[in-house]
Amino acid sequence: MFSNVFLLDCTYKTNRYKMPLLSIVGMTSTQQSFFSAFVFLSNETEDSYKWALEHFKTILHQNSLPLVLVTDRELALLNVIKVVFPTSKHILCQVHIHRNVLANCKKYFKEGKECEKFLGVWQRLVEARTENEFYMRYNAIISSYSGYYPKVVAYVSGTWVEPYKEFFVSAWIDKYLHLGNSTTNRVEGGHNHLKKFLEVSIGTLNTVWRAFDQMITLQHTEIRRAFGHSSIQMSTEYKSILYSALVGRVSINALSLIREEEKKYSSKEYPREEDCVHTTRNTLGLPCAHEVGIYNISLKTRHIRYG
Ligand SMILES: [Zn+2]
Repeated sequence: MFSNVFLLDCTYKTNRYKMPLLSIVGMTSTQQSFFSAFVFLSNETEDSYKWALEHFKTILHQNSLPLVLVTDRELALLNVIKVVFPTSKHILCQVHIHRNVLANCKKYFKEGKECEKFLGVWQRLVEARTENEFYMRYNAIISSYSGYYPKVVAYVSGTWVEPYKEFFVSAWIDKYLHLGNSTTNRVEGGHNHLKKFLEVSIGTLNTVWRAFDQMITLQHTEIRRAFGHSSIQMSTEYKSILYSALVGRVSINALSLIREEEKKYSSKEYPREEDCVHTTRNTLGLPCAHEVGIYNISLKTRHIRYG
């Protein structure tokens, strides 16, 4: 279950042997994170990552391999994913990239304001919804910044845009079912949670294992509770005919996302099918506002006829 998207990240200072800990985190239909695997690595080379991911693959069902994997920019991991999960899409965490751009470009700007302005422009480039929009914004960056800040342009284009744009810019990654995960925030949140259980950073591997055990037991209880809550919670919002075939079958979180699209449809604030880039459909697997409109009309018609 829930093998669509996995987020991978390493954390440190968990044990006395200074072994990095690779965590693999998934997401439930109730939008909760769950730890799917922990691996102590002796180092962060391609061989170690390959060994870890090959073992991870053996615990997944062959016909439910991940659609999407999200990582920070760890080049060794980048190459290994291509080999071990050749059919999965790979996303590079947008937040890590933003931090790297800030850390590397700050020194080239004389004033903080100029740097902030550039980061805003960079963020808009990352959020470009179509390839056309992306290239227009990219060309605008090159023409406005090349004269005064050639090193900034060289850094962002050489380090990020040219080699990896398909791995982090919305225009490309929003074609996949990533369920809203364009960053590794979930796994970082999981690491913070784990460290509360750990208490010390110099324990043995057994100490860490016991902390995992406690944390996973609690995680399991919380997930079960949310599933129970999701199947009995029946807001009046979902009593309309539009939701009749969905209530009890899909999570309350999915219903609320559909409800958002329905609201856009009702207030007429949504792109028509021909202008829509289908972000909701592609990234979440749920109908966009223009599709909700079609369901709404056909359901109402049926209701009048057969109701
Ligand atoms: Zn659409």
